[in-house]
Amino acid sequence: MRFIDAPNGVCYVRSNRIALPHGFSTRIGGVSALPHTASLNLAFGRGDDDAVVLANLDRFTDAVGLPAEVISLPQIHSADVRVVGEADRGLGYQRPADVSCDGYVTAARGVAIGVKTADCVPILLADETAGVIGALHAGWRGTVAGIAQAGVGKMVALGADPARIVAAIGPSIGPCCYMVGDDFAAAVAASPCADLCLPHLARRDGHLFADLPAMNTAILRAAGLRADNIDASGLCTCCDTARFYSHRASHGQRGTMLSAIALPKGD
Ligand SMILES: [Zn+2]
Repeated sequence: MRFIDAPNGVCYVRSNRIALPHGFSTRIGGVSALPHTASLNLAFGRGDDDAVVLANLDRFTDAVGLPAEVISLPQIHSADVRVVGEADRGLGYQRPADVSCDGYVTAARGVAIGVKTADCVPILLADETAGVIGALHAGWRGTVAGIAQAGVGKMVALGADPARIVAAIGPSIGPCCYMVGDDFAAAVAASPCADLCLPHLARRDGHLFADLPAMNTAILRAAGLRADNIDASGLCTCCDTARFYSHRASHGQRGTMLSAIALPKGD
């Protein structure tokens, strides 16, 4: 993955492994003026006027080459993944939504899907041959509940082949910073993905640290993805607060990033 500085000032992260329009936003290049949301906040309800958030979305989609309307519903740390299409365009941003969801898959061209994070793990998926894409929000609850597996399953139902799916795991809190309690370990042990996730908890200097990107990588591998088709950024949001919003580093006073992908519109 690499940072891209777009001509309009937006900085985003892109995977070299996915040719489709996609990007993981940073906090750079927007018009949010509040100290904690400056400057590319992409979520409502963080202190910015909605018009500011929508202006930031325009800047981000322009920079990445995505359709202006993006589907991204309120998130609830579930493992629910929804198949979306043309009729859902802009749901959660340009059009109000009364439902929540943590992941999307689609085979519809010109339909952008995205997930919002500020330490949680954003995952973008693509089987470019089949023309099927996905976007997943994997906080620790969604991770151990198996949202990555659920997302791959929904893509396969639309015609994707796990052996062809490329997964880009974007910037999130890393194992360097994600200190957790013993209650966390107990919840992981009781989860559907315990066997895959427990190896990615490590004790250091008497504290427990979790590696969410590694947990998701293990789950994606178990779902049939090839190791060389998983592109993990290795970027830690909590270590680099000049570039990223981090819930933990800011004690909750922060904006939110968006990770989005679309199949280009056909002729
Ligand atoms: Zn870190």
